[in-house]
Amino acid sequence: MQEPPTEPHDVIIMGGGLAGLTLAMQLRDRFPDIDVLVLERRRHPVPLARHKVGESTVEIGAHYFAEVLGLREHLEKAQLRKFGFRFFFSEGRRDIENVVELGASRPLPMVSYQIDRGLFENFLAEEAQRRGVRFVDAAFIREATLAEGNGLHTVRWERRTDAAGAGGGEAGAAAEPEVHTTQARWLVDACGRAGLLKRQLGLAQDNPHGVHAVWFRVAKRIDVDSWCKDPAWRARTVTPTRWLSTNHMVGAGYWVWLIPLASGSHSVGIVADPRYHPLERMNTFERAMEWLAEFQPLVFDDLDPHRDKLQDFAFFRRFSYDCKQVFSADRWALAGEAGRFLDPFYSPGSDFIGIGNTYITELIARDRAGQPLAAHAQVYEQIFRSFYESTLALYVDQYGLFGSPTVLPVKIVWDYTYYWSVLAQLFVQDRLTDLATLAQLRDELALAQKLNVAVQALMRRWGEALSPADEAAANVPAVHDQAALPWFAELNRALHDRDDAAAFRGRLAAAVARLCTLAGEVQVRARAAGVESEELDALLASRTAQAAQASPAARATPVPGAVASALLFPPTRDARTPVPATEASAATA
Ligand SMILES: Cc1cc2nc3c(=O)[nH]c(=O)nc-3n(C[C@H](O)[C@H](O)[C@H](O)COP(=O)(O)OP(=O)(O)OC[C@H]3O[C@@H](n4cnc5c(N)ncnc54)[C@H](O)[C@@H]3O)c2cc1C
Repeated sequence: MQEPPTEPHDVIIMGGGLAGLTLAMQLRDRFPDIDVLVLERRRHPVPLARHKVGESTVEIGAHYFAEVLGLREHLEKAQLRKFGFRFFFSEGRRDIENVVELGASRPLPMVSYQIDRGLFENFLAEEAQRRGVRFVDAAFIREATLAEGNGLHTVRWERRTDAAGAGGGEAGAAAEPEVHTTQARWLVDACGRAGLLKRQLGLAQDNPHGVHAVWFRVAKRIDVDSWCKDPAWRARTVTPTRWLSTNHMVGAGYWVWLIPLASGSHSVGIVADPRYHPLERMNTFERAMEWLAEFQPLVFDDLDPHRDKLQDFAFFRRFSYDCKQVFSADRWALAGEAGRFLDPFYSPGSDFIGIGNTYITELIARDRAGQPLAAHAQVYEQIFRSFYESTLALYVDQYGLFGSPTVLPVKIVWDYTYYWSVLAQLFVQDRLTDLATLAQLRDELALAQKLNVAVQALMRRWGEALSPADEAAANVPAVHDQAALPWFAELNRALHDRDDAAAFRGRLAAAVARLCTLAGEVQVRARAAGVESEELDALLASRTAQAAQASPAARATPVPGAVASALLFPPTRDARTPVPATEASAATA
């Protein structure tokens, strides 16, 4: 049944998942009179727990939801506060108290959340409508036609009014659907992996990161703290709430996630590089359980008596991908997974939704103000791509390091220093679209990016140089407590700071100087294992030469890295050995 055409909208968002609904709200918050239509294939309400994958937030995503969109009350009341990230080198082990644990002993100041995706998307759809967004569920988009010149884009979609697909299913095939043709000035594809416009415009592009994931939800809590009765192990955290962390059980070539959900379920995933662990070993629940029994027996033991509580099971063979373009001056854009996707190891999915949506909102703002779009669309594309590429460098060919209790703790400190002090600062201080500041920081940001690439390569070779015996010797009862690294905890706290433009530039310059020092420390440790990096040497030397030229006083500054180890955790020490009094007091200061 063909419905009569409606008035054109300002924006049509195809797909009402995380990216689409949050973008709709961001637009309404920015322009109270904007007419935004969101078309979502699934019928609402969608089911809790087993709705979609992608449940752990980190600082950018949490800030985007809580502050930019003003959803803190929902997050605090309806979702779970996350107890940071946590890693255990527990492959093949049931004695978790005897392996390296990496995780904070107390929550760090910047709060993030574990998100039940069903609960969240039901809430987002309602909240978006309260804020004036037009949201249509059970609406299946058949076709999108982009406008020529300054015309309107057209979307043809169907809606079934019967109960088919109720309970969060897709619109079914029972009764004759309503057929709608709707037009808008802006068209945003937020259809997730379906990537309607991406396919239509031939924008899909592979990246070099060929890893896979399987995941499932169980209707029970996985209480990590209950896995061990050792009082000393339990006392490592201020409260017995490790279960609220995004727990990573790691081994060479893979990691297993454990994420609690507010609905009472737990999400479990295995993410692996097929060069170490082929998908075929884990692509059914039974196989995944066999695999867990061998590689992460504590997870297996926890789940085995509760197989009847399984809620779903799914997998993606190669989940990471690129896209040639996500923003266009022709008034279309791709949001969320309809564009690119990285890797969930550090949970950046929501971060990149927040970053991409912010650029789309800015382009729409320019258009509404009658300003030209071409230059800005191009610059935002370049910046967004550079964020994607620097983040991708943390993952590509790095899965081998996940079994290394020597290198992975160093990598995590490096990766988080980069994230908290550069990317997260740009986002929380609202500098993503401040092109003047970004231009002034161009050299610093380019150096940070090059350092990251060089340090990732160095860490990879360092990991390869270590023998299984070296690694076994490093996997002792020990904890790397980020809360006890004062400078690191401060980077997290500093995400609450707000600077003027000059102070912000100073902050970023200091961040890059710190990255240089840290890179130097990584180099010293790798060198002890006989691994050198000419690339990193050259970068650090050129930095020192530049600094000396800029300021004569800097000539006295030693080459970063020649300084004694100051930023990294001391090399692993057995947690049963008492901490020397000087270090213990520094840690509690
Ligand atoms: C293994 C894995 C683990 C992850 N873990 C995390 C994590 O811990 N933290 C994190 O932040 N992110 C994580 N992510 C990423 C996260 O899942 C995505 O960032 C997020 O789901 C993308 O949201 P989206 O709105 O772009 O897509 P989706 O949530 O998929 O939404 C797209 C919507 O479009 C609708 N749609 C599709 N086709 C049509 C059509 N023809 N007509 C109408 N509607 C349509 C769909 O029904 C859907 O609701 C993970 C991803 C993977 C693969």
